[in-house]
Amino acid sequence: MNVSSVIKEHLDDEQFRILNGIATIAVDFGTGCYLVGGAVRDVLKGRGSGDLDIMVEHRFSEIADAVAEQLGGTVLKVTRFGTAALDIGAIHLDISTARCETYEESGDLPKVFPGTLEQDLARRDFTINAMAISLSRDSFGDLIDHHDGMSDLENGVVRVLHNQSFQDDATRILRAIRFAGREGYQLDEYTERLIRRDVRYLETVSGERIRHEIERIFLEPTSSAMLQVANDLKILQAIHPALAFEYSIVAPITCDFDDLNLIFYGLITRQASPEDVEPIITRLMLDSVRAAFVNDIVSIRAIVPSLRLSKFNSETYYLLEGLQPLALDAYATFTDDAEAVKRIRLYLDELRCVRPSITGESLLAEGVPEGPWIGQLLKSLLAARLDGDISSYEEEVEFVRRTLWGGP
Ligand code: ATP
Repeated sequence: MNVSSVIKEHLDDEQFRILNGIATIAVDFGTGCYLVGGAVRDVLKGRGSGDLDIMVEHRFSEIADAVAEQLGGTVLKVTRFGTAALDIGAIHLDISTARCETYEESGDLPKVFPGTLEQDLARRDFTINAMAISLSRDSFGDLIDHHDGMSDLENGVVRVLHNQSFQDDATRILRAIRFAGREGYQLDEYTERLIRRDVRYLETVSGERIRHEIERIFLEPTSSAMLQVANDLKILQAIHPALAFEYSIVAPITCDFDDLNLIFYGLITRQASPEDVEPIITRLMLDSVRAAFVNDIVSIRAIVPSLRLSKFNSETYYLLEGLQPLALDAYATFTDDAEAVKRIRLYLDELRCVRPSITGESLLAEGVPEGPWIGQLLKSLLAARLDGDISSYEEEVEFVRRTLWGGP
C-alpha cells in the first residue's frame, strides 16, 4: 500500500519538503529511511502531526549533521541510544538508528543494539505506533505494517504487540490508556486483560518515568476520562495505593499549563491521608512545587471537618491561611461538600484580602513598645475586622486603645 498522497495531504509543506530532503540525503549515505511512530499513526488517521520521527538503518548521527547542514537546521542533542534531535525552523525531528531492545529486568531501561527495521518496529508499544512509511527514493510512501496496525487504526483499537509488553515496560500501561482515551479507541480485550495481570509491574518503574507519562495524560483534553479508566483498572493504585480519581469532569479544565498539572496532582491525591503524602512525593519524585501543592490539598481535606464547624470568619481565615489559593480553588471546584465550598470561597473572595489599616509600624510609631504583644494585638485586630466587630479606622484605634490600656 502506498500512502504518499496521504502524507502529502496531511503534513504541511515544510514537513513534506524536509522528508524529501532527508530521503535524498539518505541515498547519499546508502541507507533506507522511514517515517515512524506517532507521525505515521496521525497522518494515516487523516490528521497533521507535530514532531517527525525518522528511522535510518545506519549512520544516524552523520545523517543528522548532513540534514542540519543541507536543510538549515540545528542538531540539538545526540543520545547514546542512537537518536539525534534536530530543529529545522519550527519543526522538530528525531533521527534514530533502527534498533532492537532486550529487557533484562522489568522496569529497567532496555539494552539497546543496532537492529533492522523489523526489529525496531517490533520493540514498539502498540500496533498503531508500530508502522513505518518508507522515504527511500524507489519506494517513497510505501507503508510497512507487520503488526496490522492499519486495521487497528481503522477499528479504533489499542493493542500490544506481545504478551510480555507491559512486563518489559509498564509505562506502556499509562500510554495505552492515553492513546485509547485520546481518540475514543477501545483497549483490545486481550490487552486490557494484560493490563489487569501486569499492573503491579508499575512498581518496577522509576518515579521519573511514571511522572513523565502521567503528566502527558494530565495535558490531554480528555484527561479526566483517561484517569477514570486508570482508576477503574487500578493503575493509579498500583503506582501508590492512596492515589484515586473519582470525578466526572465533563468540560476540559482550561487554565495555565503548569496550573493544570498541579490541579490534576491535587485530584489524584485528594483521597490521601496526611501520612500518605511523603510516600507519594517520594514515589513520583515530585519537585518542591508539586509536593507543596499535594501537601496543601491533603491538608485542606484534613481541615474540612473543622472548617465546616467554624462559626466565625476569623476561624475560617486562620484555618485556611497559608494554603495556596490554587489548591483551595481546586479543592472547592471538585468537592460536593457545599458547606466547605462556601467557607473556602468566602476566604478566597473576601477574607484573605482583609487587612487592618493599623500595622506593626504604625503601632511602633505611636509609641507602643516592641514585643510579642504587637503580633498578638494585630492578630486580634484582624480577627475583629474579619468578624465584622470593627469596620473603620476609628474603630481600629478604639480597639487598640481598649486592648492596650483597657479603656478609652
Ligand atoms: P504523541 O502524539 O503523544 O507524541 P507519539 O507516538 O509520538 O505520540 P512518543 O512518546 O513521542 O509518542 O513516542 C514515539 C514513538 O516511540 C511511539 O509512537 C512508539 O512507537 C515509540 N515508543 C514510545 N514510548 C515507548 C515505550 N514505552 N515502549 C515502546 N515504544 C515506545
